[in-house]
Amino acid sequence: MPSEQKTPESFRDSLSTVDKRGRRIWVYPQKPQGKLYTARKLLTPFLLAFMFGAPFIKVGGNPLMLFDILNRRFFIFGIGFWPHDFYLLVIAAISLAVFIILFTAVYGRLFCGWICPQTVFLEMVFRPIEFFFEGNGHRQRKFNQPPWTAGKIARKVMKHGVFFALSFLVGNTLLAWIIGIDRLFEVVTLSPAVNPSEFAAVLAFSLVFYGVFARFREQACTLVCPYGRLQSVLLGDNSIVIAYDFKRGEPRAKLKAGQDRKNLGDCIDCRACVRVCPTGIDIRDGTQLECVNCTACIDACNSVMKKAGLPPKLIRYSSYNAIAGKQDRRITPRMIGYTVILAALITLLSVLLITRDNVETTILRTSGRLHEMLDNGIVRNLYNVQVVNKTGAVLNVDLALKNITGELRVVGPPLKIAGRSTGESVITVEIPQDQLYSASSMITIQVLNEGKLLEEVRTTFSGPKPQRK
Ligand code: SF4
Ligand code: SF4
Repeated sequence: MPSEQKTPESFRDSLSTVDKRGRRIWVYPQKPQGKLYTARKLLTPFLLAFMFGAPFIKVGGNPLMLFDILNRRFFIFGIGFWPHDFYLLVIAAISLAVFIILFTAVYGRLFCGWICPQTVFLEMVFRPIEFFFEGNGHRQRKFNQPPWTAGKIARKVMKHGVFFALSFLVGNTLLAWIIGIDRLFEVVTLSPAVNPSEFAAVLAFSLVFYGVFARFREQACTLVCPYGRLQSVLLGDNSIVIAYDFKRGEPRAKLKAGQDRKNLGDCIDCRACVRVCPTGIDIRDGTQLECVNCTACIDACNSVMKKAGLPPKLIRYSSYNAIAGKQDRRITPRMIGYTVILAALITLLSVLLITRDNVETTILRTSGRLHEMLDNGIVRNLYNVQVVNKTGAVLNVDLALKNITGELRVVGPPLKIAGRSTGESVITVEIPQDQLYSASSMITIQVLNEGKLLEEVRTTFSGPKPQRK
């Protein structure tokens, strides 16, 4: 088949935003208007409040959300995860992945259009600012043509100034999600020389966000986002997507006065749905990787249908099977399988979270050190201690031997551990040789806070091989 020959599926061979020579085709979408766009505008303040406000919120003394990668501390909705809880994070990540697969199989890319920070910032924050400075899509196209007047340049400078200021705010917020709001305040109130790495991170984040929202835009969804690229395997014919009703719409034909449309479809080929699309696609071609389910084409088409005196919802939330008139099975065996796995994972995660300890102590013999024989028949071992305090309160940890005669001394720093942090120290344990039953006896050490038992830790105690009597 000649490479230039067009087929109904030809549009899938190339990206709508890249021309034949591989150059970017800039998208100038028209401003959306309609019920769904209004609903998204109403939702936006809540999403932005969460993104910007979450680092300020504490739950029982814990940050609501914190992804402290450097110190390996994570707080998700106030629940803390430390390095010891790595297995919980793994289970949580698997549960999230199964949830995403299940959710997408049923509801398609609902997340992309309504909640994803990329879409929310680009379409509900940056794009309206662009409309404000440069006008609607068709005006922007002209605005970007020469000649470059002083007025045009001033508008461009102001727009990009606002873009960068907002990107800087977003960059700071992202850092607050990683290092916490208190640490961020320290960084922004002190000289950059005091915290050069954090300052560099703020600058880097700000520049990346500016680049994404000012230039890269929809390419982030089509070329970079792994979720977007997985759509072809996650979506099925029963998934709810933003779909064009080709049965009702075709054959399409422009609206003409006095025209008999008896044998024509409802699509009047006005291309309003294409003009509003921020990813530059024609949804009438079918579900496409580039579609972020922003709903702009639904609003645009509903408005056209109203003016043409035709029923609305020619483009709507629906599944391919529903539109094609085939059996629309919302619940498939695949979905049932995912649901069972997800329920099992959530149950396991909940049980592990409820039953985990608030304090976790590790006591290990110092590596490379053998036991030491003292003069009076006493054996001494050296240990490294690490206590993870997952509570918000300060702990004054004492250690004591259980069920054995001997002496335990803290020879490293005292174990006074601030809330949500880790304390480390070194201890020695001395036990008379006649108390030991083997060259590697198990001993129990009690971990106490202000005299109250927190937990008991078992560890090995090395000594000389007992003599056979
Ligand atoms: S096809 Fe419609 S829903 Fe999809 S990105 Fe374009 S305008 Fe948004
Ligand atoms: S807006 Fe509606 S009528 Fe106009 S081209 Fe798109 S689908 Fe057809």
